[in-house]
Order: sequence, then structure tokens, then C-alpha cells
Amino acid sequence: MDEVTALEERRTSNQKLEEIVPRPRSYRVEAVVLRRVDFGEADRVLVLFTRERGKQPVVAKGIRRIASRMAGHLELFTRVDIQLAKGANLDVVTQVDTRDAFRHLREELSRTSTAYYVAELADALTEEGDEHPELFDLLIATLRALETTDDTRLVAAHYTLRLLDVTGFRPVLQRCVVCGADLLPGKNAFSPFLGGAICPRCAPAEPTARPIPSDALKVLRNLQRAGALGSAHFRVPELVMRDVEGTLRDLVERHTERRLRSPDLIARLRVEADPIVRAAPPAVYDPEPDEAQALTPQPQEPALTPRPPLPQAGEGEQVTTIQP
Ligand SMILES: [Zn+2]
Repeated sequence: MDEVTALEERRTSNQKLEEIVPRPRSYRVEAVVLRRVDFGEADRVLVLFTRERGKQPVVAKGIRRIASRMAGHLELFTRVDIQLAKGANLDVVTQVDTRDAFRHLREELSRTSTAYYVAELADALTEEGDEHPELFDLLIATLRALETTDDTRLVAAHYTLRLLDVTGFRPVLQRCVVCGADLLPGKNAFSPFLGGAICPRCAPAEPTARPIPSDALKVLRNLQRAGALGSAHFRVPELVMRDVEGTLRDLVERHTERRLRSPDLIARLRVEADPIVRAAPPAVYDPEPDEAQALTPQPQEPALTPRPPLPQAGEGEQVTTIQP
């Protein structure tokens, strides 16, 4: 769907929403900027995630003019207080104050690209007008954790699991999603279509099942239990992390029914960063005592094959000029 069609559909859904929850003529929201689309000669549509109203597209008029006082406040990933005036279609930004610019996110490419992923995923997994105050808090906590972490990939994986939780797509990782049996370390499988792990007895009959190494399942479980963003501190070996990320990506793509663009960017960065990864000290990963067995290398596991790069999606460019 192109951006123009999306905006037209948005207009219809906004009208429906308006019948249920009338908007005041002027109001304030607390928001994070998820996406920006240039519009007309100097305007820009901003897709906000607001604490009060969930995801909401708004218009910032004249923001692309050099003299615009708003421009510096409405960068991507910025946390802002915004005053909005009711518009015929989208509401219009009349005043903006920055609460947190998350400047450290912009100082390093791996932090910036992960922040793109965080924003893109929140955008993809939510509908306009669905209130999700806990998701707003999750976004803030994630951006904050990304500013300081030395492992952006672990933060991204943790965020993805928490986001799947709050949007109702929590994967089943402790027991077989088919028969309910507790999962033991061994030849378990995973199905993004069924939304969880599958025991060795059920896996052969499930066409969407694919093997999941025990180490990757352990990391996913630990992250699912880890609570607040930034609270997970363990080092995950590179190959295990690739399986964790692949599993999460399959889950997300199953729920969004489209390919995300930012993992491509992160994958490209990873290729560049690989010499550093190889030079890193040996990975230390602290399993829980009862799970230690699963972390022993298991030669009978199928060999990991590199995942092919995802094709570039042609839709949803970050900055697209729309002819109104
Ligand atoms: Zn089973």
C-alpha cells in the first residue's frame, strides 16, 4: 500500500474513531516520534506514539522551512510534549517542547539503526487509536537502555519480546504449543505460525515447524522473564544471537504480514562489525542452574546455516514526498 492510500484509509478510520471519542479543539499529548513523511511543499506528517491516544499521525505545518522553530524538536525518536489543534483530517501541531532528545542514540550507528527498528516495530504492530500506555513506557525505557547499553542487539531482542507481550502476541516458550507438554532440552522446534515452541514428538506432524537450538530457546525464555528493559545482562554467543533474532523476526513478520526494513540495515552493520565480534573475548552466558545442560554444545543439533539476506521492501520509505 502506498503512503497516499494509507493516508486516505487513515482518514476513514479517524472519522470512525471521532464518532466514538470526540477530540477537543486543542489538547496536549506526550509522544515519541516514530516516523516522518514529507507532505506538500514544507509540511510533514509525523506518526507519533502518544501516551494518551496510542499511535496518532499529525501534521507539522511548515516544518521543512529553514526558519521553522519546531524542526529541531521533532526529530525521530524524540520524546516531546505536543500541543495539537483539531484539524479537518489530521490534527495539527501548534507547539512542541522536547522532554528527551535521546542524543546518545544519534552518536553511534548501531544505536541509531536499532532505534529505527524499535520505532518501525512499534509502528507495525499497533493500530491507530489503540491506547497502550504500557507500550509508551516500553518505548521510553528501550530508547533509554539503547543510549547506554554495550549490547544493542540484546536490547532489541528484549524489546521485541516485550512488545509481542503487550500487543497480545506473546510467544509460548515454556511448553509445547501443540500438546502443552513441558519442553526439555533437546530437539525442539518452533513455529511462528503457531506462535511458540514445539516438542520433539509433535514437531514432525507440524509443517510450519523448524528446528530451534536449545541455546536460542534458553535466551528467548530468559529475555521473556527478564522484566524491565535494560535489566537483562548476559552475553550471548554470536551464532546463538543470530538464531534468537531469526526466530523473533519470523514471529514479527508473521504478525505484521510484511517484511521489516530495519533488520536489513542491522544485518549489514553486523557484516561490517564481524571482525570486532571475532576479536571479542570468549562469550560468557550465565544460564540458570537447571538449564545449564541445555547450554552444552549438542553435536546432534542441525548445523546452523546462514540466513539469506531479506529482499528490500519497496514500501514505506522513511521520507517520501506525497503529492496532496
Ligand atoms: Zn508437543
